[in-house]
Amino acid sequence: KPDDSPLSAAPHLAVDGLARRYGTFTALDAVSLQIRKGEFVCLLGPSGCGKTTLLRLIAGLDVPDSGRVLAHGADITRLAPARRDYGIVFQSYALFPNLTVADNIAYGLIPRRERARHRERVRDLLDMVGLPGAEEKYPAALSGGQQQRVALARALATSPGLLLLDEPLSALDARVRDKLRDELKRLQKKLGVTTLMVTHDQAEALAIADTVVVMNHGRIEQVGTPSEIYRRPASRFVAEFVGEANWLAARRVSDDVVEVGSHTLQLGQPLPAGDAFTLFLRPEDILIRAQWEPAANTVLARVADVAFAGALTRLKLSPEGMPGVTLTADLCPSMLSRQPIVPGEIVPIALPAARLIAYPEGAP
Ligand code: ATP
Repeated sequence: KPDDSPLSAAPHLAVDGLARRYGTFTALDAVSLQIRKGEFVCLLGPSGCGKTTLLRLIAGLDVPDSGRVLAHGADITRLAPARRDYGIVFQSYALFPNLTVADNIAYGLIPRRERARHRERVRDLLDMVGLPGAEEKYPAALSGGQQQRVALARALATSPGLLLLDEPLSALDARVRDKLRDELKRLQKKLGVTTLMVTHDQAEALAIADTVVVMNHGRIEQVGTPSEIYRRPASRFVAEFVGEANWLAARRVSDDVVEVGSHTLQLGQPLPAGDAFTLFLRPEDILIRAQWEPAANTVLARVADVAFAGALTRLKLSPEGMPGVTLTADLCPSMLSRQPIVPGEIVPIALPAARLIAYPEGAP
C-alpha cells in the first residue's frame, strides 16, 4: 500500500489535467482536483457532465488521454485497479446473487484460507453498516437499502484508504436514502476514510460532503464547502443547479450600487467589471417587513401568490417599480410577526445587500 505518513505534504489523491475523449466528444476536459486525507468529496453535476468518467479514471477502470492521477504524490495513472488502495460501491448493488452476504463481503479478503478471522471481520462490518446477523442471507432476500449496506461493507472489508461511491443512494426510495445518507456520513467520519462520491442530487451533496465539486460539460465549475457552493455560487450555472434562484437585471450606478427598475440597491461587495449585471438572491433571503419604513434595499411588492409548502410558505412577489419582475420568496411562517399574507396585498420586502451577488450580464 502507498506510504501514508503524516509527514507527506502531498494530498491523498490528486488529479492533474485529466482529459478523456470519446471520438471527437470530450467527456472530461483537463480536470485538476486535490483531495485531502479523510475528506468527504462529492462530485456533483447534471447527467453526462463527466462525473462517472472521472471516478472511473481514479479507480483505474479507464485510462485518460492525458493528465495524471496521483496517490500520496505517486503517479498511479496506469496502475492496475487491483493494485490501488480503494473500495468501490456502484448504484446497482452489484452483489453476487449466488453468494451469501458473508461470502459477498469476504470476497476480497485474502488469503481465503483464514476463514475464522474473516468471519470476525464480516461480523464487525455487518455491525458497522447496521445489518447484524445477516451473514447467511442471500442478496435476493434483502431490500435495496440492505443490499447497498452489504455493498458498502464489502467495499470497506479490506480497510481501503479511499472509498469511491458512484451514485450509491440513487436507486433507493427517499426515506431509506436519507437514513443511509446520514449513516454513511457518520461512518465515514468515524473511519476517517477519504471518500469520493458521485451524485447528481444537490441536496445529497450539500448534506453529506465536506467539499462539493460542481461539474458541467466535462469541467469543474466550482470547488467549495456546501455553504460556499450554495451561498456564493461561482457561476449562474452553479447557482441554478444547487438551489432555487431569483435573478434581477441590474445596471451599475457606482462601485457597489446598482439600479433595478426605478430602484437602487446596495450590494455587500464591489461589482465585477462591466455595466450590466444579473443579480442573484435565494428565495429564503428575501425578508418581509412588518411595516413600511424607508430603508436601503427595501421596496413594496404586491403578493401575486401564496403557496403552503409545509415548513415553508412560498410567495410570488411583484415588486413596485420593477416592471416584469417576479420574485420567489420562501418564508418560515413562525418568523412572521404579523397576520397571514394573502394574495393581492402590498408588503414591504427587503433584499439584503450581503446576500445579493452580481454576475456580469451574459456570463454563464
Ligand atoms: P450520469 O449521471 O448520467 O452517469 P455522468 O456525469 O456520470 O452522467 P459520464 O458517465 O462521465 O457522465 O459521461 C460523460 C459523457 O461521456 C456522456 O455524454 C457520455 O455519453 C459520454 N460517454 C461516457 N462513456 C462513453 C463511452 N464509453 N463511449 C462514448 N461516450 C461515452
